[in-house]
Amino acid sequence: MAGSRRPRWRQDFGACLVRDYTCQRPHRSAVVFYLWNGEPGYCWLFPTGQGYRLGAGFLGSAAKSTRRHLDSMEQFCQASGLLPGERRLHRISGALAPVRLPATIAAQRVLLVGDAAGLLDPLSGEGIYNAMRSGQAAGLVLGQGLDRPARRYLRAIRPLLREVGPPGASHPGLMVAALKAYFGLVPGLDRLGLGGLARRPFVNRLFRRGSLPPGSHYRRLH
Ligand SMILES: Cc1cc2nc3c(=O)[nH]c(=O)nc-3n(C[C@H](O)[C@H](O)[C@H](O)COP(=O)(O)OP(=O)(O)OC[C@H]3O[C@@H](n4cnc5c(N)ncnc54)[C@H](O)[C@@H]3O)c2cc1C
Repeated sequence: MAGSRRPRWRQDFGACLVRDYTCQRPHRSAVVFYLWNGEPGYCWLFPTGQGYRLGAGFLGSAAKSTRRHLDSMEQFCQASGLLPGERRLHRISGALAPVRLPATIAAQRVLLVGDAAGLLDPLSGEGIYNAMRSGQAAGLVLGQGLDRPARRYLRAIRPLLREVGPPGASHPGLMVAALKAYFGLVPGLDRLGLGGLARRPFVNRLFRRGSLPPGSHYRRLH
């Protein structure tokens, strides 16, 4: 495809690693730590019904140490009582995650969707929604005929492209600096009674879907 000769490099990908545990007494709280170990990425722990899912996702050179970050998160969760000592590891999964848009997403009759199109949110690592939406858009465009499908497809996925940012925008160093500044500001704004205002854009970006299941813990902040 035109303009797509540049190969994808290591820094175009983050890494994601997940460990699933079963245990007797799962509790219901979920925790997320941004910039774990001061690196661009985050670690999470949430209950799955049978136990817990512990995960880590990191960008840039920190992606090489994803396993080490997950180990330290696991130690922290166990030491602080978030993860029971008696648990059984029953699954490990992980993969690279594209965090930059490729130079060309659609040309002539080739339309890239989902991860192949780089439609993964570099801040949250969320890619399922965009994969489904872009796949749906590609299907609709092709179903309407083969007249300039690339142009019509790019128009259809413009809102998704806006969300994940322009090509090359997700520089890990810049993301760390922006998040550190943000997290540094929030406690001060809390003291001024403006914490809600400061959290709103961040939280709503992560939990922005109108299609959350009934009873979901997640809510838009107004
Ligand atoms: C550990 C981990 C946790 C994640 N957690 C979340 C999350 O909580 N929420 C979220 O929104 N996103 C999450 N993501 C990201 C999300 O999984 C992806 O963004 C999403 O699955 C992308 O969908 P896709 O259809 O583009 O690609 P994929 O789901 O990767 O599907 C591509 C398919 O193509 C197949 N394939 C590859 N090559 C060939 C070939 N040559 N011939 C035929 N078939 C082929 C593959 O086997 C695969 O089944 C996570 C990713 C990882 C790695």
